[in-house]
Amino acid sequence: MRRIPQAPPSVRINKVRADEAPWRCTRCHALLARKRGSRLHVRFARGHEYIVGLPATTRCRFCQTLNEYPAPAAEPARRS
Ligand SMILES: [Zn+2]
Repeated sequence: MRRIPQAPPSVRINKVRADEAPWRCTRCHALLARKRGSRLHVRFARGHEYIVGLPATTRCRFCQTLNEYPAPAAEPARRS
């Protein structure tokens, strides 16, 4: 009986855990941070890391869109 090498059933690269939901840019979907419990884990290149409380606001480094977390109500406030 020949042994067939088999990949482990659930090796997944770049899959996030349920408790680390990604926060993505609303416009270009670039990864901005990951949610960890009630905080956001922000990681930059060269080892800079921040863990910030909510709510948080940032500008996307790719498309300059201002993103808020948690996202504000879908409908912007109207002033009549
Ligand atoms: Zn963006």
